[in-house]
Amino acid sequence: MKYVVVTGGVLSGLGKGISTSSIGVLLKSRGLKVTAIKIDPYLNCDAGTMNPYQHGEVFVLDDGGEVDLDLGNYERFLDTSLSKDHNITTGKVYHTVIEKERRGDYLGRTVQIIPHITNEIKQEIKAVAEKEKVDVCLIEMGGTVGDIEGMPFLEAVRQLHMEAGKTNVCFVHTTLVPILGTVGEQKTKPTQQSVRELRSVGIQPNAIVARGEKPLDPEIKKKIAFFCDVPVEGVISAPDAPSIYDVPILFEEQGFSDYLIRALDLGPKTEDLKEWKDFLVRLKSPVKKVEIAAVGKYTSLKDSYISHIEAFHHAEAATRTKVDLRWVESTDIEAKGTALLEGVQGILVPGGFGDRGTEGKIAAVKFAREKRIPFQGVCLGFQLATVEFARNVLGLKDANSSEFNPKTANPVIDLLPEQKDVKDMGATMRLGAHVVGLTDDCKTTKMYGSTEISERHRHRYEVNPKYIEEFEKHGMKFVGRSDGGRRMEVLELQDHPYFVASQFHPELKSRPFRPSPIHMGLVKAAAGLT
Ligand code: GLN
Repeated sequence: MKYVVVTGGVLSGLGKGISTSSIGVLLKSRGLKVTAIKIDPYLNCDAGTMNPYQHGEVFVLDDGGEVDLDLGNYERFLDTSLSKDHNITTGKVYHTVIEKERRGDYLGRTVQIIPHITNEIKQEIKAVAEKEKVDVCLIEMGGTVGDIEGMPFLEAVRQLHMEAGKTNVCFVHTTLVPILGTVGEQKTKPTQQSVRELRSVGIQPNAIVARGEKPLDPEIKKKIAFFCDVPVEGVISAPDAPSIYDVPILFEEQGFSDYLIRALDLGPKTEDLKEWKDFLVRLKSPVKKVEIAAVGKYTSLKDSYISHIEAFHHAEAATRTKVDLRWVESTDIEAKGTALLEGVQGILVPGGFGDRGTEGKIAAVKFAREKRIPFQGVCLGFQLATVEFARNVLGLKDANSSEFNPKTANPVIDLLPEQKDVKDMGATMRLGAHVVGLTDDCKTTKMYGSTEISERHRHRYEVNPKYIEEFEKHGMKFVGRSDGGRRMEVLELQDHPYFVASQFHPELKSRPFRPSPIHMGLVKAAAGLT
């Protein structure tokens, strides 16, 4: 088993996840089977209890794991499906070790960070790599080298390197090479210092990925190589790229896959990036352009909606249509009205939790329905589409979700029956992939090309079955259902050019070569393509 460990230095937000994913694309292009693990040194057991301002979107896997958004990048770049074991957190590791201690598994010994925590970390890493039977397992270390909470993980991968052998573990350190305004010179000192920090815990990087505004000057590459004791070919320039999907190509142009293959003693294999390059060509040669409004609550932090952004990129390439997203805070609609939506060709209301901004989202749904603007609702967006319809078409003025008004006489969206007694917040929603059956004659079936699909979920509330007949009589059809028809999953409005909403999150399974059909449908409808 071979491992590539990606660490980060200097500061966070360097795009380590994209670097890791891009390395994965390169190794895959050399015919290797690759998987990836994200290590998050925080104490939460998983990402499910964190709000989007903390670490961005909570990504959901097929098995219902609520994980770091980097796993979304791995899935998209590697075109694979991961499980919750691919996200290791301090909380998870300590939870397991403490459970073992309570069971008496340590036979009277003192339980310590070294070796018990580090052994558990190594074991969790190896279990994933071995179960997947891959050639190379990527391990991305969250946080920055030097963080106290990251120390046990760095120690664990240091031991892994020692035990598995030099050519079986390769370290890639990502750093920042800033340019000082006045002189315009690329500065290497932060890189040198963060490599020194890494060495102080016993790790010498094999390669350095240097982020910066501009490509590294050849002399600067040499300087980094010299001071950090890395061959010049192992210093990879990662300048700002037009799109994240350019990064694998930028790396490959510098011979990064050759370098890694040699470092891991894997022998030459021919590179095949054709499909990836074709995708990039399509992405960059749009023949049409549309503007789509995304009406959300955390629109200042684009990471909150990263899977939607990527799903639209996939749809852009597939339809050769440039999508400009207009981010609209739903509370701004409440304050200033739907004039903020004027001029767009499509509207998306994504998922969300909590009362704040819901009335603005409902106003956006009404605007899309009445003005016949192509509309997509996802999860909360789906639920609010029913609330809007109940209020303004069925005339149930006080209709609401019981999430926002528990006392409403018309809870068209209500708690799932199995949620009624749930007390813990962590990992207790209806989560992960569930099979959804679609009717023969709807738009959604046409777009998926099948009447049976599997999509990912994350919710506590659902359509109240009491109201379904009334909705359908007035033209809101529930064309997708699950659990033997018990749960409503997809709705479509009759007599509307494109009004499709889903209880599930189609953005989570969107991939460069297999875009989410519902996002693609919205783009096509917005662009007037049929
Ligand atoms: N808050 C809603 C629920 O729990 C919607 C969740 C979501 O949009 N992910 O059902």
